[in-house]
Amino acid sequence: DLPTIFVVTPTHAIPTQKADLVRLSNTLLHVPNLHWLVVEDADHKSELVSRLLRRSGLVYTHLSVATPPELKLQPKDPRWKKPRGVLQRNAALSWLRENLEIVDANGVVYFADDDNTYSLELFTEMRDIQSVGVWPVGLVGGVMVERPLVDNGRVTGWLTPWRPDRAFATDMAGFAVNVRLVLNHPTASFSIESQRGFLETDLLTQMGVTLDDLEVKADLCTKVLVWHTQTAKADLKIEKIMEQKGKPATN
Ligand code: UDP
Ligand code: MN
Repeated sequence: DLPTIFVVTPTHAIPTQKADLVRLSNTLLHVPNLHWLVVEDADHKSELVSRLLRRSGLVYTHLSVATPPELKLQPKDPRWKKPRGVLQRNAALSWLRENLEIVDANGVVYFADDDNTYSLELFTEMRDIQSVGVWPVGLVGGVMVERPLVDNGRVTGWLTPWRPDRAFATDMAGFAVNVRLVLNHPTASFSIESQRGFLETDLLTQMGVTLDDLEVKADLCTKVLVWHTQTAKADLKIEKIMEQKGKPATN
């Protein structure tokens, strides 16, 4: 059977949330044997996300866990200051461990943020991963592309301007793991303690992964199949003024 792709997406309630989730769901609808694990950063599952998932036509699991306020990014903070989506991705890992049987688990886990751009080819590339697959990510780290360095079909290091000495200097969007790794390392998780930029490295290290385990995808890591696009903050200046006046912004 075709292995299942488990796509893990943390999401939080901001004005652009629904637009991002609609766009992502439209991409995922093209991918066979996919199970979307959507985890809201909230105490409760929202009606907005529930309805969107129900109507999407996708196979999905809907979870929620709130990031405690002291770990939340404040409006004035730069984006890199706090890790985002950490508890949410961990909730998805726990769900997989609680709901899949090791003996017949056949699939791949991919951490797909709600605002990136995913080529359909990416999912074809990742489906047969036996351990950990890696590939380039576009528009990230202040450069056009970050990617694994490949020699003779093996990963030898990382092409990235920032800390290429990290064990796995990849963005979240640049790798996927066989679900057996998740089940066989029941305590491996993302850590809010991780030094910034080390979430990916710290997770893969806990799973006992080494460079030799990495499966090189996307034509020896020469093709960009995913982009770390970022949705611009919605301009709601007028909306806010009208709210203060107690009037609807549009009629
Ligand atoms: N996210 C979240 N809670 C937050 C901020 C972000 O769950 O307080 C999610 C967000 O929806 C996205 C992922 O975490 O799926 C990464 O966040 P974002 O895209 O803002 O980060 P960046 O692209 O800057 O790394
Ligand atoms: Mn993002």
